[in-house]
Formats: sequence, C-alpha cells, structure tokens
Amino acid sequence: VRAHGPLLGSVLRGARYQPDHVALIDEHGSLTYRELHEQSSALARALHGSGVRAEHVVALLCRNHRGAVLAMLACARIGSRALLLNTGFAGPQLADVTRRERVVALLHDPDFAPVVAEVPPEVARFPTDEFDALVSSAPFAEPPRPSRPGQVVLLTSGTTGTPKGAHREVRSAFAAVDFLDRIPLRARETSLIAAPVFHGIGFAHLVLALGLGSTVVLRRRFDAREAVELLARHRCTAIMLVPTMLRRILDLGPVELESHDLSALRVVLSSGSDLPAPLAAEATKRFGEVVYDLYGSTEVAVATVATPLDLRTAPGTVGRPPRTCEVRLYDAEGRRVTKPGAVGRVFVGSGLRFSGYSGGGGKDTLDGLVSTGDLGHFDAGGRLFVDGREDDMIVSGGENVYPSEVEQLLATHYQVRESVVLGVPDEEFGQRLRAFVVPVPGARIDPEALKVFVRDRLARHKVPREVVLLPALPRNATGKVLRRELR
Ligand code: ATP
Repeated sequence: VRAHGPLLGSVLRGARYQPDHVALIDEHGSLTYRELHEQSSALARALHGSGVRAEHVVALLCRNHRGAVLAMLACARIGSRALLLNTGFAGPQLADVTRRERVVALLHDPDFAPVVAEVPPEVARFPTDEFDALVSSAPFAEPPRPSRPGQVVLLTSGTTGTPKGAHREVRSAFAAVDFLDRIPLRARETSLIAAPVFHGIGFAHLVLALGLGSTVVLRRRFDAREAVELLARHRCTAIMLVPTMLRRILDLGPVELESHDLSALRVVLSSGSDLPAPLAAEATKRFGEVVYDLYGSTEVAVATVATPLDLRTAPGTVGRPPRTCEVRLYDAEGRRVTKPGAVGRVFVGSGLRFSGYSGGGGKDTLDGLVSTGDLGHFDAGGRLFVDGREDDMIVSGGENVYPSEVEQLLATHYQVRESVVLGVPDEEFGQRLRAFVVPVPGARIDPEALKVFVRDRLARHKVPREVVLLPALPRNATGKVLRRELR
C-alpha cells in the first residue's frame, strides 16, 4: 500500500500554481490541472453520495485513460483504498482478488463487463463511461476530509502464482523520487505512459509525472505505431515502457521511425522485466543516449537504475541503486556476498518499507532489507546484474544454471528474436535444459545448430538439450513471460 496523498497533492498543487497547464491528454482530448482537480472532486462527491466511504476498498479495472486517473484521485479524496487490478485478469481471478481484498465497489471500463459479471453481486459497480452521468445526476455534498491519506494497493504481476497485494509504507519523503538522481526527469516534462497505470511501473510514472507538473499522455492500449506518432505529435520528452513495447517500436523499422521527429525525447525508461543488451543497444542507436533501465519490484519499488553510460560500458547491467537506496547480496545461509561476479540473493533497502501481503505472508528480510526473489551479482565497478529469479534457477547434474545467462547468449544469435530457458525433470541429471525460441521473422532455425552455438560459448551443462520453436512467448498484460504456462 502506498500513501496516495502524493498523487492528489500533485494535482491540487498543479491546480493552484499552473491551473491552465495541460495535465493529461487521452483519446478524448486534453484536461488542464484545474479541470482534473474539478472533475475528480465532482466524482469523489458522486461516489461518496453513492455510498463509497473512507474505510472502503475500491477496485479499479481500467486501461490508461482519464477515467483511471479520475478514479484514483476520487478515491484519494474520499480517503478510500484504491486497489489497482490487472486488465488481463480472467473472471475467476478477478472474483478471487476482489474477495480476498474485501472490495466494496468496482470502477471499471465498460469493455470488461463480461469478466466483471463474475465478481460477487454485492460489490457496487461504476462503469467509467458513466462517470459523467453519475456526476450530473444529483448535487452531491462534499465528502468529509479523510483522517488519513487514501492508499493504493498494487498487485504483483502474478508471474509465479496468484497476484499478491503488496503493502508498503512510505518511510521517506524521497521514496517516490529517489531515482531522479539517476534519471534526468525534470519539471514539466511531456510523458507518454505506455506501461499500464494499474502496474507499479505505470503507476510510479504517473505519480512522478503529475508531481513534476508534467503533461501526461495516455492511450488505452499500447500500439507501437500510435506510440511513435504520439511521441512526435506532442513532442514528448519521456516515455516509460516495458521491454516488449520497446521491441515493438523498434520493429516498426528505420524508415517508419525516421519519418517521425523524436528529437525531443530525453528519457526512454524501460522496466518490469529484463532489457536484453542487444535491445538496449539497438534502442540507443535509434534514439540516442537516452535509454535507462529501472529494476525493481512491487514490494521494493526501485532497486537500481542503469544509465545510458552503464548500458554502454557494462551491457546487460541493471546499474546502481539511487542514493537513498541500498542493494546487498546474501548467500543461502544469510552471509553477505561482496565478491565481484559471485551470485547471491538480491535484497533491497529503501525509503519504502514493505510490510507484507494482504492475507498474510511476505518476502524474506535480512538486516532490514527485503528480498526481491531474484539472484544477481555485482561487477568490479559495483554495477548489479540480475541472473534471474531464485525459483527459475536450474540445477542440472549438480551444477547451477541461471537461465538468463543462456537466454542472453541466445539473444545475440542473429536468428533468435527471444527465448526462455526452463529446467524440466530428467532422470539422469535431475533437471535438463529446454529452450523455447522465437525466431526473427522469416528465419529458419536449425535447433542442432543453435545447440552448437551455445556449446561453443558456454559450459556443457548450460547447453539446452531440447530446443522448441514457438511463434511467440506467452506474456501477461505487463509484458512478462509466463514461464508457468511454458512449463
Ligand atoms: P509475482 O510476485 O506475483 O510472481 P512478479 O514478481 O513478476 O510477480 P513484479 O513485482 O511486477 O511481480 O515484478 C518484479 C520482478 O520483475 C523482479 O523481481 C524481477 O524479477 C523482474 N524485473 C523487474 N524489472 C526488471 C529489470 N529492469 N531487469 C530485470 N528484471 C526485472
């Protein structure tokens, strides 16, 4: 749970100091800071008049558009807790999460009506396309000032199981902005938020952008062609996206990309899953030295940031922690791992304190730092490399194999677009490696040749015994590969 005050505070400040500055642009046009404030206050009155109270949990099932932002702001004004739901949820998953998190009201985009039908009937429903009608239906009274700021519950991606509601407390005022010492975002940017705002990445960017008095550009669904047009049309200075989105933008090809003036772009921020070194290099070639990679999780928020210099000098790195944050590695026995190159479990300490999941459970903590569930190592320069999730580590013939090492090598093969390496049960070795490989369009991969490619470059136990060719990898709404499904 993150205190929601900053989002509302930013809009209030914007409405006071730069009322006519555009806060938001979506498919319906633009809203100034004053309008955003007025419309969200009206929605707060209407929701409160319809029974939503400060002690309630209100779930939001929205794509990126003004309705989502107005809903978040209205919840913050009432003081209720806003639970941000993944738009990729299936009906039963949605029903489970709303039950577990004790949701009282659901604000949703109308196109999710079929999945919303599976939510328990006692949950009040407010479709986002009916906000105007709701607001104009009666002159509602002002809700009382909440005694504590409204909070947001972010869900983990559910990559390893059911999405968990991560509860966080803000310990330092700098928690949401501490990475600004590594990313040159400044006041009044124009930011295209391509990542979904229901996820930690998109949400963090939204809060940050409005806090900086920026203009935020939103589109319901990500489309690479449209994203590039928007970047050029609004002369966007920043874009925040997940690596798959970056891949799709670059796949538009040089002719199309060069036909747009993207010279205003100063920050291309990738996050959410690993940014393969070849992709980072290609993006840098296309957009210039403006590519940043942010590593973090729903539980710890930001862990590290790789700057363009880091990505150039140490390809594959996720960089260093911001000033107010600390990253440490520990071995399985809880001893510090400090030697360059030695792999350990990644722990993060920051201005946010993770206080567990809804319904109990948590991540391991050591010396006040919280585990990310990942394995990683530092290079001699103190830059972090993520070797993958602890759960994904493969033990084959007694040897540890980090899938990401093999995946990163495969990514350098000219015929490979992307890949995932899994351990599957093996009678002789305990586990053997199976690689799922997506060829670049038109390439005809010979699995045996690909194995030879790996054998020539890595130790024997790291060579996949099986190569399965796939047209695409299964991914969730935030672009993460669903390893579970491949398994
Ligand atoms: P769940 O906890 O439900 O299984 P999840 O761990 O995918 O889902 P998130 O909190 O959204 O939920 O994702 C955090 C994880 O994503 C990190 O622990 C890491 O494995 C991965 N990740 C995020 N950003 C990066 C990055 N820049 N580079 C490499 N990996 C990243």
